[in-house]
Amino acid sequence: MAKKQELQNNSWEYAPSLESTSHISIQKKYDLYIDGKWVKPSSGKYFKTINPANEEVLAEVADANEKDIDKAVKAARKAYTNVWSKMTGAERAKYIYRLARMMQEKARELAVIETLDAGKTIRESRDVDVPLACNHFFYYAGWADKLEYAFPNRNVEPVGVAGQIIPWNFPLLMAAWKLAPALATGNTVVLKPAETTPLTALKLAEIIDEAGFPPGVINIVTGYGDTGAALVNHADVDKIAFTGSTAVGKLIQQATAGSGKKLTLELGGKSANIIFDDAPIDQAVEGIVNGIFFNQGHVCCAGSRLFVQENVADLVIRKLKQRMESLYVGNPLDKNTDIGAINSKKQLETIEQYIQIGKAEGAEIFQPTCAIPSKGFYCPPTLFLDVAQSNVIVQEEIFGPVLTIQTFRTVDEVIQKANNTPYGLAAGVWTDKGSRIFNLTTKLRAGVVWANTYNKFDPTSPFGGYKESGYGREGGLHGLRPYVRLK
Ligand code: NAP
Ligand code: MG
Repeated sequence: MAKKQELQNNSWEYAPSLESTSHISIQKKYDLYIDGKWVKPSSGKYFKTINPANEEVLAEVADANEKDIDKAVKAARKAYTNVWSKMTGAERAKYIYRLARMMQEKARELAVIETLDAGKTIRESRDVDVPLACNHFFYYAGWADKLEYAFPNRNVEPVGVAGQIIPWNFPLLMAAWKLAPALATGNTVVLKPAETTPLTALKLAEIIDEAGFPPGVINIVTGYGDTGAALVNHADVDKIAFTGSTAVGKLIQQATAGSGKKLTLELGGKSANIIFDDAPIDQAVEGIVNGIFFNQGHVCCAGSRLFVQENVADLVIRKLKQRMESLYVGNPLDKNTDIGAINSKKQLETIEQYIQIGKAEGAEIFQPTCAIPSKGFYCPPTLFLDVAQSNVIVQEEIFGPVLTIQTFRTVDEVIQKANNTPYGLAAGVWTDKGSRIFNLTTKLRAGVVWANTYNKFDPTSPFGGYKESGYGREGGLHGLRPYVRLK
């Protein structure tokens, strides 16, 4: 405590710098966006979405059931058959470009709403989520009239109606990853946001409406519990794209087996961040912090398992602990905040359970002495040292700001340890040697391997997993493939 106060009394105390909320508009109640209209849910039921930073209710949102999903799929089918699949790629591109530009105009509003609804820091939503979401639409708009170059000498056809289900960690960005390639290739869509973070998708529906998309091309249907399952099981859906947990991904795989539906799954991860002794240590420490603590560890590809070469382990751990002491946990709307609110009470409880498991497994725990708001859901950045490969906290995805540290001596040893997981979404390698980077990128069984950086995204780069992290790729040229039939 004394140490933290000492730090705060010296250089680390910033004046609050709150992003304004006066420029945003959130409705009290949202209906479903189906066939270009706002329609009431057939059950008449609504659920609340809250701000996890202070537990205040932000809005009530419609709870769609099977009947509403059926209505949305019918609207998407009609729009597909009559309008969208018949339109030229150049015409489709105009709509998508317009949407991207209108999102840019409303970037501040989208960022603030994302922060309020999801608990993520304004720095993250303003600088990462929203610009990347816009860029995804710009990028795929560019492909819409060039599909014959993307797939030379093939006849390219859309798949039809896509059902898209997204998680709560990057709500708007995941919506963009799903919608942009589907629309560019001529598919129509029914999109279901996650229960705790529907608001930016609903704001997007307002923008889509204003952009003048033909009715039914994009339908946004909120709900929880069995809403996603109703979409997966609908007989007239041609493709399911899912991002979320591995457990739900497996259920969807079973539900779609033998149905003829195309399926892509972007699932969980337990990614390795590997620091060699010749790495630029200060940058690597920043990379570790960026990889697991920013965005509350709510990142599917979070660098949640740290591997440090033994001869620099003491140095890296000392510097990491020092850096953790300076991290600010608190109001996500404050531009100084490094770690915002955990997305929901349920997720906070899950993380806290894993922290208890880690302690019970005998690992040494380190948490900085940071002040945490009394209301809202918060978790301090947490380090577990002296862990074993077989520990639950090393094997299972925690999806919070919790990092385990292991050491290694040789390249072969760290490759074997890093690959020893059911997942394979991402990895990071920190070293001065290019040859070592090339060696590891070919041997690590992970969809993305970052070298001397972490958690960097670009619409032109494909993203996706190995093993239980799912299959199919989103982003880049690869991201078009799941949405087309080639003849
Ligand atoms: P989740 O519980 O699997 O939920 C994801 C979405 O699926 C939500 O919209 C959810 O609806 C819906 N859903 C739940 N049960 C369903 C069912 N039986 N059939 C169809 N849909 C169903 O995951 P989450 O907790 O929101 O997200 C965290 C997970 O996502 C983590 O494991 C993370 O690693 C993963 N993730 C992966 C990537 C990637 O690209 N690989 C990216 C981001 C996140 P409700 O909201 O109603 O529950
Ligand atoms: Mg919320």
